[in-house]
Amino acid sequence: NSTSENNFPELKNIKGIKHIIAISSGKGGVGKSTIAVNIACSLAKLGLKTGLLDADIYGPNTPSMLGVTEENPKVTDGSGNDQRLIPINKYGISLVSMGFLIEEGQPVIWRGPMLNSIIKQFLYQVEWNNLDFLVIDLPPGTGDAQISLSQSVPISGAIVVTTPQKVSLQDARRGLAMFKQLGVPLLGVVENMSVFIPPDMPNKKYEIFGKGGGKILAGENNLPLLAQIPIEIELVNDSNKGVPISISEPDKESSIRFKELAQLIK
Ligand code: ADP
Repeated sequence: NSTSENNFPELKNIKGIKHIIAISSGKGGVGKSTIAVNIACSLAKLGLKTGLLDADIYGPNTPSMLGVTEENPKVTDGSGNDQRLIPINKYGISLVSMGFLIEEGQPVIWRGPMLNSIIKQFLYQVEWNNLDFLVIDLPPGTGDAQISLSQSVPISGAIVVTTPQKVSLQDARRGLAMFKQLGVPLLGVVENMSVFIPPDMPNKKYEIFGKGGGKILAGENNLPLLAQIPIEIELVNDSNKGVPISISEPDKESSIRFKELAQLIK
């Protein structure tokens, strides 16, 4: 137990939640949210009770990826600390996102302590009910949110998402090093946008963003490369329509990879 080796605050389990999986990346735009959403949907499809906490406070995209931007989560009866936020249910997952709480287009300019308290509220003041898995979509980088979260709850495993580009490795390395320092167990690396498969030429593969990034990162850290997700046009389209690809097109290559990932995590 790494918490006893370091002088970290005692980690408090969230009642009813069996496992917490954190999805992280060194920088934005690598597909971290896409992967978090599709892992959550794939876990739910395996019959597991799954929640998704969108802690990407600077760019909370999961409500639009799940087509629930118009929803407003309700709170339970009661007052003060007894009140709990009720997650929005979609595609079998329970979602709580910063996106429900801020106005669209407004910047998030919170300082560390406020961030810390909102993350705690998202963990402890939400009616998560019983979950097999809570998937957390972290903000990119190595800031206050990641540290708050790692020091608040026992994360069963973190996944670091990177693209194959060697230049993006630098940021991903920093992310991995942070989790190690915080004593968070690492599940492995997911390489996103590995190859492009043209829809009209399903046997062709183009390495648009170079190759090898995921393998290098995993190898340096003695971690498994858990999956390589191709670039697929449907992945963008479906996400824009508010339906994750693993729900709308389960036979696409990326959906198959997400399903395999869910089976590995399970
Ligand atoms: P992040 O959370 O890392 O900022 P997103 O998940 O928001 O990244 O993805 C950024 C953009 O790239 C989105 O428009 C998303 O639809 C697209 N995208 C992510 N992964 C893929 C992929 N494998 N194939 C095609 N488009 C992708």
